[in-house]
Amino acid sequence: MIKYDVIIIGAGHNGLVAAYYLARTGLKTLVLERRAIVGGGSVTEEFHPGFRCSTLAGSPGPLLPQIIKDFQLERRGIEFITPTARVWAPNTNGKTICIYEDTKRTAEELRQTSSSDAERYPEFISTFARIGGALAPLLTMTPPDIEDLSAAEVWQLGRLGWAIRGLGKKDEYRLLRYGPMAVADLAAEWFETEGLRALVAARGISGAFAGPWSAGTSASILLQAANGGNPFAPSTLVKGGMGALANALAKAATEAGAEIRTDAEVMNVQVKGGRAAGVVLTHGEEVPAWTTLSSHDPGITILELIEPGELEPSYRNHMQNYRAHGTVAKVQLALSALPEFSRLTENCTKEKLSGRIHIGPEIDYLERAFDAAKYGDISPQPYLDIRIPSLNDPTLAPDGAHVMSIHAQFAPYHLKDGDWNSRREELGDIVVKTLSDYAPSLRELIVGRQVITPLDLEQTYGLRQGHIHHGEQSLDQFFAFRPLIGWAQYRTPIKGLYLCSAGTHPGGGITGAPGTNAAREIIGDVKKGKRE
Ligand SMILES: Cc1cc2nc3c(=O)[nH]c(=O)nc-3n(C[C@H](O)[C@H](O)[C@H](O)COP(=O)(O)OP(=O)(O)OC[C@H]3O[C@@H](n4cnc5c(N)ncnc54)[C@H](O)[C@@H]3O)c2cc1C
Repeated sequence: MIKYDVIIIGAGHNGLVAAYYLARTGLKTLVLERRAIVGGGSVTEEFHPGFRCSTLAGSPGPLLPQIIKDFQLERRGIEFITPTARVWAPNTNGKTICIYEDTKRTAEELRQTSSSDAERYPEFISTFARIGGALAPLLTMTPPDIEDLSAAEVWQLGRLGWAIRGLGKKDEYRLLRYGPMAVADLAAEWFETEGLRALVAARGISGAFAGPWSAGTSASILLQAANGGNPFAPSTLVKGGMGALANALAKAATEAGAEIRTDAEVMNVQVKGGRAAGVVLTHGEEVPAWTTLSSHDPGITILELIEPGELEPSYRNHMQNYRAHGTVAKVQLALSALPEFSRLTENCTKEKLSGRIHIGPEIDYLERAFDAAKYGDISPQPYLDIRIPSLNDPTLAPDGAHVMSIHAQFAPYHLKDGDWNSRREELGDIVVKTLSDYAPSLRELIVGRQVITPLDLEQTYGLRQGHIHHGEQSLDQFFAFRPLIGWAQYRTPIKGLYLCSAGTHPGGGITGAPGTNAAREIIGDVKKGKRE
C-alpha cells in the first residue's frame, strides 16, 4: 500500500522547508535523513568536549522573510543575533577596515584611509540595495523553460523586466555590466583602497572555484544583494548555532504533519514505468510514494541514486558536466581564551571581532590563493573568513573560553599530491600559521582542533566533490540553467521525481528558497493531476 504522497530525501534546511509546505497542504510527507541529526549544512555539533559551533554554515543566507513568518521562528525561540560589525579586515601593515551594519559609521571610519572611498561607500551600499531589490523576486520565482516559454512564464519575466526598468538607466546598465564582470574590476570601479577592494571581492569568490579575476564573479555579489539587500555577506548568528534553526524547522514540519526519520539513508530511487515509485533504504527497506523530492545534491541524486538505464543518456551526460569543484575547508578551534589581535593591528576591539573576520588583504593575495587550487595544491596562504561565535553566544564554550570557526579557501577537492586523509593536519597547520600572522598568541590558546576537508564535506555531509553549494554558482549554472537548461523547474525527466536542494535555483545559502519553490511546483502538479 502507498502510504506517502511525498518522500523527501534529506533533512537539510531545504528538505525541511519543503516538508512543512507540503504537509501543510495535507500531503502525507516523509523526510528521510541519512545522518543522526537533521539540518545538513545547518547544524551545531560538539567538536571538542564542551565546545560547540555551527559546523558548516555560520549565518543564515538570510532566510526568506516568508519562512521566518510561516514557521513562526520567533515563537519557537529562535533568536537571530546581528552584531553591529558585519566584517572586520585586519592587515599585517596595521591598517584595518571595518564594515558596520551602519553605513554612516562605516563611511566615517573609511575616511581615515581614503576620503574618496568614504564618499563612494554610501552610494555603493544604496546601489546594491536598489539593484538587489529589483532582483529579489527572482529568488522566489520558478525559472522558465527558456526553450518552451509558457504564457505565465512570459508574464513573470515581463514583471521582472519591468522591475529592472524601474531602476532607471544608470542602474540598468550597471546590472547588465556587473553580471559577467570579474569582481576585481567591480571593486576597483568603486574603491581605491586595496584592502577594501579585496573585502568586496571576497564575496564574489566565496565557495567558488574562481579567483577575483575570473569572469562572472560579480554575479555572486548581485545574488547576495538580492538575498539581503547588502553586497557583503551577513554576520547574523542564530543563538545555539545553526542546528537550533534546523531543529525549529523540523519541529514546524512535524507539527504540520510531516514525519521525519533520521539514520535513514536512501540508496536508490525506484522507477517503475518511467515514474518515480518511492525509495529503497540502505538496509533494504522499500518505501513507496507517489512523489519523490530530493534535497540531496542533484549530481548525486541523478548519477548515483537512479539506475542509469532509467534516464535519457543526454540528461545524464549533462548532469555529469554540471560543475562542482569543491574548494572550501573548515577549521574549528577550541580556544582557552580570546586571541589577541592587537599586536599588529590597530583599533582591534571586541566589537570588531564579533562579526566576521576577513583575512585576504589584497586582490592579488586572493588570486594567488586560487592559483594554488587550480593546480591541485592547498593554498599556502589561504583566504580565511572567520567567526568567533562564542563572543555573541557564550553557551557555545566553557566560561572564558572561545570557539573560532574558520572557512578556508582554497582547498581543492582534487589534490595533485597525496590525499585529504593524509594531508588533513597540514591544512590545519597552514590555517593556524596564516592566522597567527595577525593573532600571534593564537597557537598557545588552542586546546582542540577539528579540520573538515572537502572530502569530509562529501563523505560526512553528502556534498558532491565537497562543493558547498551543491554546484558552482556561475552564470552558466544560474537561474534557468540550474541545474540544467530545460530542467530548472525542480522537475526531472522522471515523472514524479523532483529536486529542491541548493543545486537548484536560486542556489546555495540557508535561504529556504529552493525548498519553497519546489514545494509550490509539486503542490501545483498535484492539483493539476487531481483536476485531470
Ligand atoms: C563549509 C560551509 C560553509 C557554509 N557557510 C554558509 C553560510 O555561512 N551561510 C549560508 O547561508 N550558507 C552557507 N553554506 C551553504 C549552505 O550550507 C548550503 O547551501 C545549504 O546547507 C544547502 O542546503 P540544502 O538543504 O539544499 O542541502 P544540505 O544542507 O546539504 O542537506 C542535504 C541533506 O541530505 C542528506 N542526505 C544526503 N544523502 C542522503 C541520502 N542518500 N539519504 C538521505 N539523506 C541524505 C544530508 O545528510 C543532508 O542532511 C556553507 C556550506 C558549507 C559546506
